[in-house]
Amino acid sequence: MPEFKAPLRDIRFVRDELLDYPAHYRGLPGGEEATPDVVDAILEEGARFCEEVIAPLNRVGDLEGCSWSESGVKTPSGFKEAYRRYVEGGWPSLAHAVEHGGQGLPESLGVAVTEMVGEANWAWGMYPGLAQGAMNTLFAHGTEEQKAAYLTRLVSGEWTGTMCLTEPHCGTDLGLLRTRAEPQADGSYRVSGTKIFISAGEHDLAENIVHIVLARLPDAPPGTKGISLFIVPKFLPAAGGGLGARNRVSCGSIEHKMGIHGNATCVMNFDGATGFLIGPPHKGLNCMFTFMNTARLGTALQGLAHAEVAFQGAIRYARERLQMRALSGPKAPELPADPIIVHPDVRRMLLTIKAFAEGNRALLYFSAKQVDIARYSQDATERAAADLLLGFLTPIAKAFMTETGFEAASLGLQVYGGHGYIREWGMEQNLRDSRIAMLYEGTTGVQALDLLGRKVLMTQGESLKAFTKIVHKFCKAHAEDEGLKAFVEPLARLNQEWGELTLKIGMQAMQDREEVGAAAVDYLMYSGYACLAYFWADMARVAQERLAAGSGEAAFYRAKLQTARFYFARILPRTRGHVEAMLAGAGPLMELAAEDFDLGY
Ligand SMILES: Cc1cc2nc3c(=O)[nH]c(=O)nc-3n(C[C@H](O)[C@H](O)[C@H](O)COP(=O)(O)OP(=O)(O)OC[C@H]3O[C@@H](n4cnc5c(N)ncnc54)[C@H](O)[C@@H]3O)c2cc1C
Repeated sequence: MPEFKAPLRDIRFVRDELLDYPAHYRGLPGGEEATPDVVDAILEEGARFCEEVIAPLNRVGDLEGCSWSESGVKTPSGFKEAYRRYVEGGWPSLAHAVEHGGQGLPESLGVAVTEMVGEANWAWGMYPGLAQGAMNTLFAHGTEEQKAAYLTRLVSGEWTGTMCLTEPHCGTDLGLLRTRAEPQADGSYRVSGTKIFISAGEHDLAENIVHIVLARLPDAPPGTKGISLFIVPKFLPAAGGGLGARNRVSCGSIEHKMGIHGNATCVMNFDGATGFLIGPPHKGLNCMFTFMNTARLGTALQGLAHAEVAFQGAIRYARERLQMRALSGPKAPELPADPIIVHPDVRRMLLTIKAFAEGNRALLYFSAKQVDIARYSQDATERAAADLLLGFLTPIAKAFMTETGFEAASLGLQVYGGHGYIREWGMEQNLRDSRIAMLYEGTTGVQALDLLGRKVLMTQGESLKAFTKIVHKFCKAHAEDEGLKAFVEPLARLNQEWGELTLKIGMQAMQDREEVGAAAVDYLMYSGYACLAYFWADMARVAQERLAAGSGEAAFYRAKLQTARFYFARILPRTRGHVEAMLAGAGPLMELAAEDFDLGY
């Protein structure tokens, strides 16, 4: 695995120069604590911790994996000690409310730390990462008593958490779930059933694990309207605040899987375990939706993480590896061959990875800003607008960033030639680890349906307009800027086309509902490329301004402009293919009968 360097310069570029986070924090209730000095110190310290403590365990985690026995799950060497240091450093509590023991800093600052943790070692980062989902659920829907008993321990990092949704017969379709919860005389519930694929379901990093479990009450209506949410701790909290009795929840086995070996993926058996209802009965899925956006952004971030790792490895290798001469004549005549970075095709791969990593970083931090506003703004209109925008961007970020993160990881391996396929370079681990991100937290296909069906068509295009208005304003403001014309003109055309395509698909869908499913993934990918076109155009604006002002970091800003040009010339044309495919309709997909697929085999 190449040595990891936290991409602090680019994180600062995106947060401070592109998105003006300092002003954002000044205007945010509670954001006043996040002064530029505080933010800088946190990012520096987080980077050091990730580089020195977590990154060196990435390969160890892959090679050793987790092991299961009747007594529990053992994580790879060093994971437990790193977690202890993470907790001692106060990292779990960074972006949580002060009244629950948190440091009260904005959610988006937590995202920056999570980015670095994820890049250093995704599998390790999932242990504290899953706990965030449990904390958000308790914060939004727990009673004061539940918050006191569980949330404070999760915030401090003493305990970790999980999200238990999936069962053997249901993943996407949670309406099919069977885990049951029987009410008891003391107000608790007896939870029985089997959950599978539960990340961090059992491990040796923390003394207790708080499972957030979806289950059905005896009188539950069938389908998604009959699902309730429960807290089921591994150890019940004792009256005095310590650990009480061991609960009847256990890990039956762990999965052997393609990647993220350092993270335990568990079968969890609930054998009449004691649980406590969170939120109203039968409203479990609604409760989950309130934090789904943040959880999905957390997975979107995984795509960025693997693209960043691919870039760091590939750029170093491309500068060192000597093969063949440049077509236009030797570039390093003193060497037996030129470094492979001279070859156009290697540059295509490097620039594609770079364009995805940096473009997706802009999309992520733009979305994280909306999370802050939707959560903390005191202005209800502002909160609703941020929520609408976030709802639109979330499925795009989740699916597009993980699909392009996987592509970037694959290109990162390709830059190494055959050596990329060999373990010791770490690029094959990066590729294997990246693959899961397109599956969990809702597959790409399911995100696409959410975007086109629920978010865009069901709001009559309102959520799309929330974003295209921003793009339109940008294009109008810079229409006369000669330096930006090459970006602004195609962006404005794309922005208009986006609305027209939506209308066309909406009309087709009125004739046949299958049209939505048929167009959805191409529509989502088109939307992702369009979003990145906006962010690359805006990044080009910042770079141009800095260069005109005589910045001392001219090379950095020139690289931004050049990458923006690459994006528009070599990546954005992919939208043409998606337009043709999404307008081709459901016919070519649906006419082949299910029983005829394998005729001739
Ligand atoms: C390593 C790992 C970790 C995980 N961690 C967790 C966890 O911590 N907690 C948890 O609860 N779950 C977890 N999961 C489960 C994960 O979220 C599910 O695997 C995922 O949601 C998909 O469900 P499924 O596997 O049952 O696939 P299915 O739902 O059976 O889907 C199979 C295929 O059909 C497609 N499909 C299904 N329905 C539709 C539709 N209506 N339209 C179009 N296409 C459709 C899907 O896109 C997919 O391609 C994890 C899984 C893995 C592998």
